Amino acid sequence: MFDLIISGGDVVTPRGVVRADVAVSGEAIAAIAAVGALPADSAKRVIDAKGHIVMPGGIDPHVHMHHTWMKPDGTPLVTAGPDHVGRAALYGGTTTLIDFCFWRDGGTAQQAIESRDADFVGKSPCDFAYHIMLHSEPPPQFSGQLAEAIQAGYPTLKIFTTNILPTRQGRMIDFGDIWEAFQVLAKEGGLGVIHAEDNDIVMHMYAKLIRENRVSFENLAEVHNQLSEDLSFRRILRLAESVPGTALYMMHVSAGTGVEAIAEARRKGLPIYGETLHQYLFYSQEDYKRPNGQIYHTYPSLKSQDDQRALWHGTANDVIHCVATDELCCSLKDKTIGNRIDDTTGGNSGVEPRLGVMYTEMVTRRGYSLSRYVDLVSTNAAKIMGLYPRKGAIAVGSDADIVVLDPTRRGKVHAADLHETDYTPWEGHDIFAWPVVTILRGKVMVEDGKYFASPNDGRYLKRKISSEVLNGAPL
Ligand SMILES: [Zn+2]
Repeated sequence: MFDLIISGGDVVTPRGVVRADVAVSGEAIAAIAAVGALPADSAKRVIDAKGHIVMPGGIDPHVHMHHTWMKPDGTPLVTAGPDHVGRAALYGGTTTLIDFCFWRDGGTAQQAIESRDADFVGKSPCDFAYHIMLHSEPPPQFSGQLAEAIQAGYPTLKIFTTNILPTRQGRMIDFGDIWEAFQVLAKEGGLGVIHAEDNDIVMHMYAKLIRENRVSFENLAEVHNQLSEDLSFRRILRLAESVPGTALYMMHVSAGTGVEAIAEARRKGLPIYGETLHQYLFYSQEDYKRPNGQIYHTYPSLKSQDDQRALWHGTANDVIHCVATDELCCSLKDKTIGNRIDDTTGGNSGVEPRLGVMYTEMVTRRGYSLSRYVDLVSTNAAKIMGLYPRKGAIAVGSDADIVVLDPTRRGKVHAADLHETDYTPWEGHDIFAWPVVTILRGKVMVEDGKYFASPNDGRYLKRKISSEVLNGAPL
């Protein structure tokens, strides 16, 4: 007896799209069969998915929940936590979120994980994991601790090559320490997840624009510019190349220079992967001039329309593998409270509309196949981050994380209809499909607008990066 059959939908499987019935037993997918081949009375419940798309739950590999950001007046802004953001994600068809834990001065990797568990365990309706973020001068014993963390199921290490803002210290890791980290990653099978900007160029541009009194946030693209992405990507990719076996995931690629640097590394056969953000694919620096233009901003920054074209090209050419949000869920007031190049709030609100909006941009407007769309919003993240085939696949034995998309749904995105906050960068964006059922490990979490999840439902996902990903085999 199955617990559930999702019947008659167009199912996006690893082998292509097939019209099929998907049967669930407990938390896993038990069978994929020709429509009608599984008798209806063999399941406790049947969901009719005729005319709908059945895909694996979305995976957002780059979010920040319950995150502290300093407001311009020096008081902390603590963003929405996993309970709230996870609810919005489930409404939007995303079932797994990967956030960060902070390995700070004097602490151990284990303490970093445990202190973040306090923010998540019992508070997350979505399944979740953390990248370990090196956050300051690594302690002398850091290599050993990193090796242990990788073996214990925490295989991704976040590294910044910049402090991002002149007012901030402690993010940037020097290249000697990065070199040492890469040796551990390569030996132990870890993956570096990288925020690369050239700190000299960025800080130089801050000083220059402040000197010239051009501090309005509309100028952010001049500060976090294409040259910075070019130099920083090439420097860290060259460092990775010098330590054979180092695999990297370049976060929030924003410029054509970054796309080209990754493409070159991949042509050499190096295991380098690219991520961009939803709004970098749709907005450019011109959008900073619109009312509340900060709502489109995430660090590094929006760039030109040429950069945007290069990013799109990358999504179709095995250079950009994932579309993430860099979620930072706060109110419009807090998102727009900073208005200078050095105090504008980073991050973005978008876990809920990501699947719907990207369907419009990819499938409806650009003719991407359903499979490529699913790769970009789910499957590739599962593969690169060490969750596949448990996550990111409709396949027998995989977790039953399943989304039913209605491709007849028409409308526009409005913040008031979402469950995130009082603004969305996607206000007025056309909808050509929208999730109507979201299932996490066999439990129906959202159905026809009704919410059935609890903050106890989400589970921490220990991960192991596959040898294919570490070797740079095609995804
Ligand atoms: Zn981020």
